[in-house]
Amino acid sequence: MQFRSDIFWKSACGRCPDCSAKVRGSADCTGWLARLWDTPAHCSGCGMALRRKEGFFLGAIVWNYGLTAFGVLPLVLLAQRLEWIGSVWAIRLAVGAIFLVPPLIHAFSWRLWIGTYYAFLPDQLPSGGRRLDD
Ligand SMILES: [Zn+2]
Repeated sequence: MQFRSDIFWKSACGRCPDCSAKVRGSADCTGWLARLWDTPAHCSGCGMALRRKEGFFLGAIVWNYGLTAFGVLPLVLLAQRLEWIGSVWAIRLAVGAIFLVPPLIHAFSWRLWIGTYYAFLPDQLPSGGRRLDD
C-alpha cells in the first residue's frame, strides 16, 4: 500500500481526487455558509460519488474530532498556560470551540477524509474501474 500524496492534496484543496474538477460549492449548494458544511454528493466533473454509502462518513468524523481535539483545544490550553487568558476564559473558549469548530470545519474534514481514503486506495477511484454509483 502506497500513499498517493497528490490525490490527498487535490482533495484537501477542494478538487475531485479523480478528475481534479473543483468540487466545493459547484454542485449541490450555493453560498459561502452552505459550503462550510456541505460536501456535494457527486463530483460535477466526473460524477464520482463523494458521499458514499452508509458508514463512509465515519472517516470525516475522525478528521473533524482530531482537528478539534488535537488542533484547536491545545491552543486554548497553551493560551491559559502562558497566562494570556485565565482559567475561566479557557473553559469558556474550550466549550465554545467544541460547539463551533466542528460545524465550521465539516466540509474541510470531508475533503481530508476523501483525500485520505483515495490516497491509500487509488484503485477505488472511478478511473481505476470502480462503479460511479457506490
Ligand atoms: Zn471528478
